[in-house]
Amino acid sequence: MDKVRKPIVAGNWKMNKTVAEAIDLANGIKRDLAGCKEVDVVLCPPFTSLKAVSEVITGTHIDLGAQNMHWEKAGAFTGEVSAEMLRELYCHYVILGHSERRSYFGETDEIVNKKTKAAITANLTPIVCVGETLDEREGGRTEAVIEEQVRGSLKGLSARELVECVIAYEPVWAIGTGKTATSQQAQDVHKFIRGILEDMADESVARTVRIQYGGSMKPANAEELLSMPDIDGGLIGGAALEARSFVDIVKAAM
Ligand code: PEP
Repeated sequence: MDKVRKPIVAGNWKMNKTVAEAIDLANGIKRDLAGCKEVDVVLCPPFTSLKAVSEVITGTHIDLGAQNMHWEKAGAFTGEVSAEMLRELYCHYVILGHSERRSYFGETDEIVNKKTKAAITANLTPIVCVGETLDEREGGRTEAVIEEQVRGSLKGLSARELVECVIAYEPVWAIGTGKTATSQQAQDVHKFIRGILEDMADESVARTVRIQYGGSMKPANAEELLSMPDIDGGLIGGAALEARSFVDIVKAAM
C-alpha cells in the first residue's frame, strides 16, 4: 500500500492476558513481524506485562506502548504510573484518552491534554483517542464533538509537538461492538481532523500527523479501511488478542 505517511498499527490488549499469556501472544506476533519495516507495529499490553513483552520484542522492529499514564512525574498518586516509569520499561508509545478511560474513569479533554504534554516531554509518542457516541452521530454532532476533543486534547502544543502525536479516531459505537464505520464514514472524519490540525498549526503538520482508525477493525475490513487516503493505520482491540488476526491486519497495512 503506497502511503504518504508510514502506517502504524497498534494492539490495545486492554485488561486482558496474564504475563504468561502476554508472552505467548507477543511471541506469536514476533514470529511474523519481527523484521517488519513497512508498518510501525506497537503492542500495548496491561502494565503488568510490559516488562515481559519488552523482553520478547527486544531487538525486533516491534515497539511497546502503554494504555494510560499519569501526567505528574512522581508523588502521592496511588495506583498511577508516570511517563518516566513507562520509558524505563522501554515503552515508546502510550494510548491516551481512550473512550473507556473517558467514560469509565472520567477523563476529560483537559486531563488528556495534561497527559499528552507529559508524554511528549518524556519522549513517549502519545496515541490520542477521539470519537463520538452513537447518540452524538445520530444527532448530527460528530464534527462538533471531534473538533472539541481534538482541540481540547492537543491544546497548547507547538507544531513540533503536534507532529510527535498519533491520533486515533475511534467512534465509540464501533468499539467492541462488531459495527465498523464504513470506510467513507471513517475517511470523512479523518479528513476533518486533518483540517483541524491545519487550522491549529499549518498544512505541513496536517499532512504529517498519522491518524489511525479504531473500532472493530479486523482482517476482513482492514484492507478497505486502510486504503482510504487519510487513514494511516489502526488501533485494534479485540482482533489484537490473537496473533493471526493482528498479523493479518498489519499485513493489510503494508
Ligand atoms: C479499541 O478499544 O481501541 C478498539 C478499537 O477495540 P475493538 O477493535 O475491539 O473495537
